[in-house]
Amino acid sequence: MATTTLPEHEVQVTPSKQEVKYVYSFGGGKADGNGKMKDVLGGKGAGLAEMTNAGLPVPPGFTIQTEACREYMRHNAVSKEVDRQMEEALKHLEQLQGQKLGQGENPLLVSVRSGAKFSMPGMMDTILNLGLNDQSVEALAKRSNNPRFAYDSYRRLIQMFGNVVLEIEKAQFDEVFDAKKKQRKAKLDTDLDAKALKEVIEEYKKVVKKHTKRDFPQDAHEQLVMARDAVFRSWNNDRAKHYRRINNISDELGTAVNVQAMVFGNLGETSGTGVGFTRNPATGVKEFYGEFLLNAQGEDVVSGVRTPVHILELEKIMPNVYNQLRDITTRLETHYKDMQDFEFTIQDGKLYMLQTRNGKRTGRAAVRVAIQMVDEGLITKEEAIFRVEPNQLYDFLVPRLDEKSAKIEVLATGLPASPGAAVGQIVFTADEAVEKAGHGAKKNPVILVRAETTPEDIHGMEVAAGILTSRGGMTSHAAVVTRGMGKCCVAGAGDIHVDEKKREMQAKGQTFHAGDWISLDGTTGRVIKGRLNTLEASPDDPELQKIMGWAEPFRKLRVRANADIPRDAIQARAFGAEGIGLCRTEHMFFAPGKIEHMRAMILADDEKSRRAALKKLLPLQRKDFDGVFRAMDGLPVTIRTLDPPLHEFLPRREELMVDIDRLPRADAKQKKELVGKYHDYGVKAAGDLKKALPELLKRVEQLHEFNPMLGHRGCRLGITYPEITEMQARAIFEAAVACAKDGVKVLPEVMIPLTATLKEMANQAAIVHRVAAEVFKEKERKVEYMVGTMIELPRAALVAGEIAQEAQFFSFGTNDLTQTTFGFSRDDVNKVLPTYLEEGILKQDPFAVLDREGVGQLVKMATERGRKTRSNLKVGICGEHGGEPSSVEFCHQVGLNYVSCSPFRVLTARLAAAQAAATDQLKVEGGRTK
Ligand code: PEP
Ligand code: MG
Repeated sequence: MATTTLPEHEVQVTPSKQEVKYVYSFGGGKADGNGKMKDVLGGKGAGLAEMTNAGLPVPPGFTIQTEACREYMRHNAVSKEVDRQMEEALKHLEQLQGQKLGQGENPLLVSVRSGAKFSMPGMMDTILNLGLNDQSVEALAKRSNNPRFAYDSYRRLIQMFGNVVLEIEKAQFDEVFDAKKKQRKAKLDTDLDAKALKEVIEEYKKVVKKHTKRDFPQDAHEQLVMARDAVFRSWNNDRAKHYRRINNISDELGTAVNVQAMVFGNLGETSGTGVGFTRNPATGVKEFYGEFLLNAQGEDVVSGVRTPVHILELEKIMPNVYNQLRDITTRLETHYKDMQDFEFTIQDGKLYMLQTRNGKRTGRAAVRVAIQMVDEGLITKEEAIFRVEPNQLYDFLVPRLDEKSAKIEVLATGLPASPGAAVGQIVFTADEAVEKAGHGAKKNPVILVRAETTPEDIHGMEVAAGILTSRGGMTSHAAVVTRGMGKCCVAGAGDIHVDEKKREMQAKGQTFHAGDWISLDGTTGRVIKGRLNTLEASPDDPELQKIMGWAEPFRKLRVRANADIPRDAIQARAFGAEGIGLCRTEHMFFAPGKIEHMRAMILADDEKSRRAALKKLLPLQRKDFDGVFRAMDGLPVTIRTLDPPLHEFLPRREELMVDIDRLPRADAKQKKELVGKYHDYGVKAAGDLKKALPELLKRVEQLHEFNPMLGHRGCRLGITYPEITEMQARAIFEAAVACAKDGVKVLPEVMIPLTATLKEMANQAAIVHRVAAEVFKEKERKVEYMVGTMIELPRAALVAGEIAQEAQFFSFGTNDLTQTTFGFSRDDVNKVLPTYLEEGILKQDPFAVLDREGVGQLVKMATERGRKTRSNLKVGICGEHGGEPSSVEFCHQVGLNYVSCSPFRVLTARLAAAQAAATDQLKVEGGRTK
């Protein structure tokens, strides 16, 4: 019987709103959700459900799932169904607690917190003590027998609600609070008594009225709805968007909202709150680690406003609570099979767990914890290799301060919040950091010095070489964020006084200003005066080797390095490079003793004088190749023929014009300077200047290009001046033969840049093959070699099948390929990029992370077409993307043979490639696009 009915499971039905479960309750030993539901409940909500189900002491509550946030983003409001389910869950919570939200003698108060699938610490908003109003605050005062606590909670609510929901600047409230402290001569916040706090509340209410033209809402249900929506909105605040961008988290996910019965850590000396880790997040050492404060609420610990106490002290103060906490956190670690980062509150001597999640850690800690957990039988070796973020391996390569290089004056010792060393000039604001640090090649190291950092500083922290704060602990914002970034940080250096207004830092009786140099040691916490040298780290750490030993057998992609000189080649080999994927020969010409011949070659206006200059370059270039071949004995070396636009070797046209104009008026000293400046262009004495400079200008004018990046460069140089390719090929083969005769195993791969047509490739390949044959005949020795090309123009990708007739290998120059595919100038893109990222037009900088949809398609297509012509075509990538984990994963997926990256990213690329392959082979959930 014919039927058009689809089998039942294939029928697609969009659930109506009534069918969507928007709100998930937890409490009383059971939860609607569970720990696996991070997509729906967010990380925090899933954790709360899981902990509740495990019978841990978790204050009850409910989670409004991420779909409601997505709905809010689409329509600027949630559906009625969300409101209905929330009210129902609230009723359930009220029953469970035997309390009513903001009502009665024992009012229920709740916290309202964000919680997305991936942790975004401090990026979104939180509101505590919700449910307090003019009546319930009195009930709370009476019931707790602690009016000070009640008023303090209320004033905190107005402040947080005012700031987050009503969008009133925090400073407006701070001003009131500071004025009250001054009036009462109070040193600490806790010195203000109940009466003073009551006055603060009245002042705060006035602030609210002034800015919103309405009263602070007294209705607790209205507070809840407004707070929920504000948390949804905070998904799209600037710092959250920024955080998602740098962490590759999708904007579409949305956040859940967790509403949870409040427990109070500020009920007096038998209450407190804290945060901790089951292992040391900086070093990975297995020790109970964290901080707490008595008589405080959560934000006091993490905001760094008060400097907290080490968690081990809790054992002396409340031994029972301490033991219970240790027991619970150990169970949590065993349950989640990963180091936990937890938050707890003690209310009147009773412990509550507020949150647990997998803890952020440094690269060194990640490696150590993974190995320990394998040893402890918690995880397998295969799982362990996914526990380390490839980019974090950089930690093993971070420099240390060279303590012998200068006399060391330690200005202060703070907390070793994030390891490594940083040396730079002081800046006091995030904006100043961005301004001074510069971009691309023009980078200046800056140290961002703050009393404490806040999530608003994220853009400055990203560009700074290191961060120094005078307040805050190991879990302060500065510490957590820098560890995630793998950036050096010294936090809580209390002996330093930072005056951000005056832009001054005082330490040891000395005053430091913006622009002064300091050195930080993030491993010991020392702040050192002046500009110290730094020492390279060694990558031979045994733990690192161990984990790489587990990961490497999975790896399919080979990893090579981009290196131009023997020193870099040796370094790359030490980091595990399996060859050189790009030797940019032009970099060899910049060295003194060579540049003048290079310039003479460019300035030559006939072949004869060009050949004369090239003859001088030949032995120098041969020596360079000789060094690189010997360093890479047994491994392939890809050498690219001359590529850059010639103007890079010449003086700037405008500058030359100015010098010519100045010449008639120049005194002897100025002329001497000009002789020095133009020495490499053949100017030997002051008397030469008058003739030589205009001649130079003439040639510079001839070579001037409007668009040099699209101009006389790449294989176009070797085609118009074949003698350049000839000289380079000769230098390569003469060096190769000489090395081979000494028993060195050489595998040269000559690479032609910027080809777009088969004929270009054929033209250059013919020269290389001819010269190779000549050299082999002359020297009576042959070496194996290959001739291939870079694919860095869209046309080359399109006709890759043809080019492969002549090219024995391809290497994707994704820097240029990105430039030419997008039509973005790689040198000027920063004018456009910030806006593009902010507007969400681009998710990431395509010069940093390979654009899979566009450029990636060209890579995939060219590889397929090339291999159709030449089945054994070797294909690699040598643009900057070759060391970026997500791009490496893509290269694995499209079946390239190797990636090539800067020596310092070789380790990262090795692990990323191993993880990509292990994801396939083990069929585990992997993938770098969140
Ligand atoms: C490239 O374009 O990706 C490349 C590696 O070459 P260069 O950066 O030298 O232009
Ligand atoms: Mg290029």
